[in-house]
Amino acid sequence: MTLTNLIEVLEAAYPPARAESWDAVGLVCGDPAQPVRRVLFAVDPVAAVAAEALEWEADLIVTHHPLYLRGTTSVAATTPKGRLVHTLIKNDIALYTAHTNADVANPGVSDALARAVGLVGDLVPLQPFPDDPWRGLGRIGEVAAETTLGEFAAQAAQGLPRTAWGIRVAGDLSRPVRRVAVSGGAGDSLLGTAAAAQVDVFLTADLRHHPASEFVETGGPALIDAAHWATEWPWLDSAASILHASGVTVETRVSATVTDAWTKGLS
Ligand SMILES: [Zn+2]
Repeated sequence: MTLTNLIEVLEAAYPPARAESWDAVGLVCGDPAQPVRRVLFAVDPVAAVAAEALEWEADLIVTHHPLYLRGTTSVAATTPKGRLVHTLIKNDIALYTAHTNADVANPGVSDALARAVGLVGDLVPLQPFPDDPWRGLGRIGEVAAETTLGEFAAQAAQGLPRTAWGIRVAGDLSRPVRRVAVSGGAGDSLLGTAAAAQVDVFLTADLRHHPASEFVETGGPALIDAAHWATEWPWLDSAASILHASGVTVETRVSATVTDAWTKGLS
């Protein structure tokens, strides 16, 4: 397998044209002709992930988050990102990113998140594309049997990988829960959409005090705020499965390194 072969498979599942205009997806470094035997999937292109790739002798790292979101005039090893580029190139490790194009794909980041927190049955986009009702941001699904906010939150915490702060809940814990919206990563731009969708709870990451407080005060859905990394990590396995399903012969590994920004939560 060459890097070109793998990129073809990834881009069929996650078309770069579907990425947001501000995003930076695709190949960050690597020679399209280079052979690839081992692919490491991770959320963040950071030093700990590069070290894992080196140790496992990966030929390619596929990350969700871009390395450079804005232009740069230097990749000197004087910054963490420049150093990462040096480590990868010196060791023939390619880096490829599928970000907002993976968010809106079907299946995409929020499908994997929905399954991880226990949603069953059909999942529909929370904010579908006008030209494609099966693709778009977020997902809406249902729990297997009506439950309470407290019980659903416990199930969500159990289904997501462990992080320093786990999850936070805003709302009455005895509130009934059946319909749930989820969005991997920072989903505060979808608060209004979740309210309009009349779900019982909206689970996402990176929610701030004022929008969350105002949202709950207006009687909208309850909120669950999870760690950003944890909401996107379930997608890695789904992306690895897409490679295997395509018939390409590579070894894959999902990085278990926790790269959430927060390393300790106290209360
Ligand atoms: Zn993210």
